[in-house]
Amino acid sequence: MKYRSTRGQVKAIPFSEAVMMGLADDGGLLLPESIPTLSAVELSQIADFSYPQLALNILSRFIDDIPQDDLKDLIDRSYATFEHPEVTPVIAKDDIYILELFHGPTLAFKDVALQLLGNIFEYLLAKKNRHMNIIGATSGDTGSAAIYGVRGKQGINIFILHPKGKVSPIQEMQMTTVTDANVFNIAVEGTFDDAQAIVKEIFGDLDYKQQHALGAVNSINWARVMAQVVYYFYACFRVQKETGCAQVEFSVPTGNFGDIFAGYIAMQMGLPIKKLILATNGNNILSRFVTKGDYSSAEVHHSLAPSMDIQVASNFERYLFYLYGEDSARVCEAMEIFKRDGVLPVSAAELQEAQQIFAASSVDDEATLATIGEFHQKTGYTLDPHTAIGVEAGKRVRSGSCPLICLATAHPAKFGDAVEKACGVSPALPAAFQGIDQLEKRLETMPADLTAIKEYVDRLALK
Ligand SMILES: *Cc1c(COP(=O)(O)O)cnc(C)c1O
Repeated sequence: MKYRSTRGQVKAIPFSEAVMMGLADDGGLLLPESIPTLSAVELSQIADFSYPQLALNILSRFIDDIPQDDLKDLIDRSYATFEHPEVTPVIAKDDIYILELFHGPTLAFKDVALQLLGNIFEYLLAKKNRHMNIIGATSGDTGSAAIYGVRGKQGINIFILHPKGKVSPIQEMQMTTVTDANVFNIAVEGTFDDAQAIVKEIFGDLDYKQQHALGAVNSINWARVMAQVVYYFYACFRVQKETGCAQVEFSVPTGNFGDIFAGYIAMQMGLPIKKLILATNGNNILSRFVTKGDYSSAEVHHSLAPSMDIQVASNFERYLFYLYGEDSARVCEAMEIFKRDGVLPVSAAELQEAQQIFAASSVDDEATLATIGEFHQKTGYTLDPHTAIGVEAGKRVRSGSCPLICLATAHPAKFGDAVEKACGVSPALPAAFQGIDQLEKRLETMPADLTAIKEYVDRLALK
């Protein structure tokens, strides 16, 4: 399988190069040249596979430059770190199914992709006798999942900038108590936007980028999307087996459009998904797009589901490429228009096509709290705010003609304050994190100053 960019200037590169490139060199996003499909017979042959077996089967279809035995080892090691024997178990509650994606080391779904990505990076770097310095900014979940993905790995240093005092206490502790020699936490005296702007500037300095072999772990990396495709298959097979239904629907709490785009890929591969329900918080650019074709940027507001406080979804360009009939020239033109006017052009026919695949709803903070409270009262199960948004959107717009699977993207203890406010119960942290507040911390506090941060990275980067 070879990869190409949505903008048309990068073509026919192998998987190993695509995963190292991250953002395509022409500014676009990388996609496989074709989407592999599975027949009904092939689907039934893999329906009883364990999670790692299924991951090997699905990922092999996208990767042809890592030998099978090596890929199997990378997958087995990546998912052995999950607390649950099923990796991503499916639980029946009320009249829905909950796909629990939070059993990884940082209690959020990003572990599913970043545990694997860390191992793939280490493997490819060792093969090529190279090293890499990862730099990223985080508002909470991505940073901790990325740090846990690469801690202690050979040939990789990681620098994560977070806004000082503006991530939740548990998120801050998850990052700063990792004291492996290759992990550098920088608490920036400023906002998340300040930290993100610094990282963008650093990547924009191409000499500096090359000199330091900089790598990125944000959700535009194709390997992250690919790893997430697997749990759509896993959940669909489990629910089909239990209900005997031919089709299922998924509801996905969405920020950067990465997770739900993995569902789109699974659907194109032939998985019988009737609809993908796109759930947003009050930052609703994506749900406005699905319900009325309005993809126009707006100010970002803080919500109870901070990992979805996004108004420009970086992965959306991948879907747009397919919506525009794989026409790179049109993608380039549309991205120019969006940059200039803040609005994406979508025709009535295209909107109709999108609505064949997606339904959407936007859930505000009040409804999020109400959902957590009601669900807890009715079932005894505690939803985190992100998951609650998916559950509520799913209940509002599901077709009702097939089972609904809601993706649970974070453990409720990660957002304990909101959960306690909603249902009066403070969810307990899993055993692995009890006592985390007693552990040694390592972080560097710095002003939001590009030059100072570049010098710091320069001093500590692998060379
Ligand atoms: C990152 C994140 C999301 C959003 O995922 P996208 O791939 O950006 O759509 C949802 N919930 C949680 C808990 C997250 O950490």
